[in-house]
Amino acid sequence: MQYRNDKHGNPLSILGYGCMRFTQQMGKINIEKTEKELLAAIDAGVNYFDTAYIYPGSEAAVGEIFERNHVRDKVNIATKLPHYLMKDLDGIEKTFNEELKRLRTDHIDYYLMHMLTDLPTWQRLEALGIRDWIRKKMDSGAIRQIGFSYHGNADMFCKLVDANDWDFCQIQYNYLDETSQAGRDGLKYAASKGIPVVIMEPLRGGRLVNGLPKSALKLLSSGDTPRTPAQWAFDWLWNQPEVTVVLSGMNSLEMVQDNTASADKAYAGMLSEADQEILQKVVKEILSHMAVGCTGCRYCMPCPKNVDIPGIFFAYNMAKSQGLLTAEKSYFMTSALRRDSTSPSNCVECGKCEKHCPQHIEIRKMLKEAGKTLENPIYKAAAYVTRKVMKL
Ligand code: SF4
Ligand code: SF4
Repeated sequence: MQYRNDKHGNPLSILGYGCMRFTQQMGKINIEKTEKELLAAIDAGVNYFDTAYIYPGSEAAVGEIFERNHVRDKVNIATKLPHYLMKDLDGIEKTFNEELKRLRTDHIDYYLMHMLTDLPTWQRLEALGIRDWIRKKMDSGAIRQIGFSYHGNADMFCKLVDANDWDFCQIQYNYLDETSQAGRDGLKYAASKGIPVVIMEPLRGGRLVNGLPKSALKLLSSGDTPRTPAQWAFDWLWNQPEVTVVLSGMNSLEMVQDNTASADKAYAGMLSEADQEILQKVVKEILSHMAVGCTGCRYCMPCPKNVDIPGIFFAYNMAKSQGLLTAEKSYFMTSALRRDSTSPSNCVECGKCEKHCPQHIEIRKMLKEAGKTLENPIYKAAAYVTRKVMKL
């Protein structure tokens, strides 16, 4: 296993264990199987385990397994505050204590504000007194390091990075998301501020393994170094020194073995120029199977009406290539949960964006199409209910 340091010099395994996708049996986590997988990962040197309050049964399973096997001191636990469910500090305190109890521990090594979608969301927490609450928890040792996980765009990500003295952050990033979400710009910005970055969705929910067009698979098999599609995706990330930990939601011993073997030999700068060219061609192939030829370059931004043009096209493309359900999940996180609307329906057709698009995309026309697909009645109803619950 290779290690990269956190902000305070502690070594973290470059492969982290994503605890969201444990095997289920009869609606419950299969503890016996999960135990074998977690222990195999620890034996192979994995020391970063990422769970969350809202992953059903995950914190309790992790706590039970770590306690029974006396491995708590060998590992780092990362878990998350579902702040969007909280209206005051009492609720936050209660939830945090529940997490400690579930995890059978007296401290959380890496604690994240879950899904900070934009600056106003963090400002709401500040108004509740979260800064003092965090400081007290850190002074007492109950929280060792503080961070946030993020699903919005790069501009907002940089603002959030600057909004607090974070120890780390977590973003969605993979070779298809190089220019969407926080993207490479966000990764580099965080790294320039000395903030380690944990990567989620390295395989885009498995789509960079299972959902690839045949032409892309052929390209991936043409490299000098034989790699599986998953290895290509991981190596692309580990190739970048700004990446600290890559999370993988492993749910079989075979996957643990494959991923830890890849992490044993990974290093920054491991991809050759020829490898990078292959991946660029693969991205083009994937994009050519999409609805809008948007590269996510963001030259069209900012829109005076706050329409997230590249984000919307990204989700629309995902709807065409990977199915509406996958796209809606992603779009929901980046759009419906924001306090400042970025919807295509905000567009007043001023045309400013089209003057800057190097791909000559008819942005206004395509936004209408995308809006019709993405913001369908089911999305609208789900967004309405969620926003009510989360008081957005
Ligand atoms: S045409 Fe619409 S999306 Fe483009 S800049 Fe104007 S308001 Fe924004
Ligand atoms: S300028 Fe064109 S290609 Fe670039 S992000 Fe905007 S719509 Fe996409």
